[in-house]
Amino acid sequence: MQMSIELLTGATMPTHPLPAECAGSAFATLTEESTMTRYLSRPLLLGVSLLLSSAIAHAATVFTGDKIEGVPVITRLDVADLAAGKAHRFMFRTSETSIGQYWYVPVMVAKGARPGKRVLLVAGVHGDELNPVAAVQETMALLDPTSMSGTVIGIMGASPPSLMNITRTWTINDLGGAQINPNRTWPGREDGNTVERHSWLITNQLIKGNVDAAVDHHTGGTGTDFAKFLFVYGDSPESIQLAKLFPTDQIMLDPGYPGTLEYSLVKAGIPAVTTELGGARKFVPEMVKMGVDGNMNVLIHYGIVAGPMRRTSADTSVFIGNDLESVRAVAGGFLTLQVKLNDTVSKGQRVAVQRNSFGDVVHEYRATADGRVAIVGSDAASERGSEILTLLVNRSDCGAKACESGKGPPKE
Ligand SMILES: [Zn+2]
Repeated sequence: MQMSIELLTGATMPTHPLPAECAGSAFATLTEESTMTRYLSRPLLLGVSLLLSSAIAHAATVFTGDKIEGVPVITRLDVADLAAGKAHRFMFRTSETSIGQYWYVPVMVAKGARPGKRVLLVAGVHGDELNPVAAVQETMALLDPTSMSGTVIGIMGASPPSLMNITRTWTINDLGGAQINPNRTWPGREDGNTVERHSWLITNQLIKGNVDAAVDHHTGGTGTDFAKFLFVYGDSPESIQLAKLFPTDQIMLDPGYPGTLEYSLVKAGIPAVTTELGGARKFVPEMVKMGVDGNMNVLIHYGIVAGPMRRTSADTSVFIGNDLESVRAVAGGFLTLQVKLNDTVSKGQRVAVQRNSFGDVVHEYRATADGRVAIVGSDAASERGSEILTLLVNRSDCGAKACESGKGPPKE
């Protein structure tokens, strides 16, 4: 994992075999030029410079020559070689499908007329989380590259088959259909399964070298509803600064969940946050607006776009916590919630009542800590083990940092 992280930053030399035409001496020359040129004759210098330009050319955007619906297909993006002051569209080709074709991810690049920071906006890592798609589309539509200083890259649908099926997971043809959670696969594996390789290609051929900061947009999964919420790695001050630019009700300082896009980027030195824009499967204007406002604030913060800040967390009396506490069903039956999203609850407070088919109470659920309601289950019929609600709590024993206890699986 560490090797991939180093690859993502571009700070270290590639460790996988180089293409024949740029292997060996050309890359050695990049770092040892001054020493070597002293001993080289003119013809040799010419050869070295040809090799150098060959090596540099490899960083460029790679077009396959194909088009899908008129949009050019690429296998590698280098925003440096795109025309400035313009919007660009691509279909980024990733791993193979079970019928030997390929998956493609739609990518938009708004490259400003002037240089500046480069921000990545992502939607659709989970395919049932659709407010993010509208948030990224609407943000890209607001941009005028002729007046921008810097670049914005929009990935509108990171997991194509999950979006097609409106599912959290990506089904691969292994043992009749294995369910892979794409947000546990980052930064990916070159020789992994379809989803792992897909993540590896996006990490290394699309993000690497092109991105200075990132926002990965999510919502609660199907069957749950999320408050206006952001996850941010508790040890990344710049990421926390970005999180506070969103008009959100809650922010969790997280311990870093391995496999998430957010954590893989932060580990690679790229500040990143994960948003939770409400519930799954639909467009909710208020939630989409939180995503768009936050995105625009991030672009204004980095000087890519000019203008006054929109609403931020300073306008929403944000609650910042450092741990999650879930209440799960310990019986089966119909559930009546007695709290709603973003309510403040106290430890011991009754939060839900569960009844059997005759209407008899089978269980009463109580809050296990003081906190704010971050997630509620949206299915009124609930069975053992399923999520009733999750609280964002602020544990004083963790100080101002994320709690490392990592209770339960991550929600991102
Ligand atoms: Zn998600």
